[in-house]
Parts: sequence; C-alpha cells; structure tokens
Amino acid sequence: MSSPSSPTRESISGGLETVRNTLQTAYRLSSWREKQPEPRLVAVSKTKPAEVVRWAYESGQRHFGENYVKELVEKANDPSLASLDIRWHFIGHLQRNKCNSLVSTPGLWMVETVDSDRLATALDSSWRKKQTEQRLRIYLQVNTSGEEAKSGCQPQDIPRSVEHVRNNCPGLEFRGLMTIGRMGHDYATGPNPDFEVLARTREDLCSQLGVQPRTVELSMGMSADFTQAVAAGSSNVRVGSSIFGARAPKTPSS
Ligand SMILES: *Cc1c(COP(=O)(O)O)cnc(C)c1O
Repeated sequence: MSSPSSPTRESISGGLETVRNTLQTAYRLSSWREKQPEPRLVAVSKTKPAEVVRWAYESGQRHFGENYVKELVEKANDPSLASLDIRWHFIGHLQRNKCNSLVSTPGLWMVETVDSDRLATALDSSWRKKQTEQRLRIYLQVNTSGEEAKSGCQPQDIPRSVEHVRNNCPGLEFRGLMTIGRMGHDYATGPNPDFEVLARTREDLCSQLGVQPRTVELSMGMSADFTQAVAAGSSNVRVGSSIFGARAPKTPSS
C-alpha cells in the first residue's frame, strides 16, 4: 500500500509503471479487449503539488484528474505546467456557479461529473462563451448505488439526459457515463453492483437510442478496484493514491 510520505520522482515513475502494467493485464484478460480500446488512465493529482504532476508527465502521463475547481485552475495555470500537453479531467462535484471558472482552465479536456440537465445547460453556456470550435467532452455521472446523498442522474433518466445534451447543448460532446459508487465493496460477495449498474445503464441507453456501445465510454474504477472495473467494462479509470501515495486527510474548499 501507499505510504503517507511525500512522493518522489522515483516513487511516481514506479507507481505509474505498476498501475499501467496492472491495467494492461486486466484489459488483456477481459472479454472487452475485442469490444473496446484499452482503458485510459487518469492520474488523480488532487492535493498534490504541480511539481508532482510534472514528474508524472515526464514519465509519459497525459491525463490528470482534479476534484476542486479552484485547485484545478491554480494547478493548470502553474508556470511549470501551463505549456505542457496536459489533458485535465474534472472529477469533483460541480456547482453551476463554478462553470465559468472551470471552463477557464487551460487544457480542460473532459468534465466527468455532469449530474443534471441544469448543470449541462450551465456548462454548455459557459463553454460557448469561449467561442472555440472544439466541443467540451462530458460524461454524465450516474447514481448507481441509489443512495440519496450521492450525486448523479438516476440510471433510468440517462437516455433523456443524453438527448438533452445532444439537442440543447451544442457546445458539449457526450462521451459516456461515470460512477463513483460505494466504497469498500467486498468482492468475496460477488461483482461490484455499481459497476454492473453502470454497464447495464450503457446497454439500455444504446438500445433505446440506437447507438453503438463502443461509442459510449464508462468511467469507473479507482486505486482499490480498477482491476475489477476493467473486468466489468471500464474505459476510463481514475487512479490517485496508487500513483501519488496517500493523501493528507484534508478537504480543501472548491
Ligand atoms: C480521489 C478520487 C479518485 C482517486 O481515488 P484513489 O483511491 O486515490 O485512487 C477517483 N475518482 C474520484 C471521483 C475521486 O474523487
């Protein structure tokens, strides 16, 4: 397991190599290798300084994830990172009044946590003010565990929300579905129900809207369970502590 000590250049290149190898093996052993490409690895750098992102970049990592708008904007504008080809993923809870600030992020590549039609509308209008040709990639976040406190669209609402994005949000590009899910699933009891619900939500979406499953990505899996997520069909895993080490137990404000 990761230690709470500060990461070093060596610990990060070693952590990345281990995670990449594990990811590749899980994909090759899975039934998904014929149906979809190898999952993308998003290195979750929240709470870690820009220097650490730079080290991971120098080890070939390009996709990075952040949870807090303020921290993402600061990091992406750090002079040591600003000129690099980093593809930032926003993976935290997003409030509508933070959309303008979020879209100012240089290198913002994907927002993984669009959890309502109103948020999609707000993000679309913020993005279109930038007057760029490129659409902003998004995932719709799904509440796969049914817990009231969790954010995310209900699985049965997904086809309608995808239609909302397609019909009313010309600045956004729907790329797939994302879940955070319950922590600490005991795999001795069977497959992770959150992963199964997300995969089933994709199947239902694809049959209802007549789209090809390989065009709809699934973002699921973190340090503790990305291997199982890949076996369940993940296309995008979000891994933090296995690369960067344990995080200090603080919660910076967004
Ligand atoms: C922090 C975080 C991760 C990474 O978690 P680790 O357990 O450190 O790999 C992934 N996804 C989301 C949404 C997160 O907030």
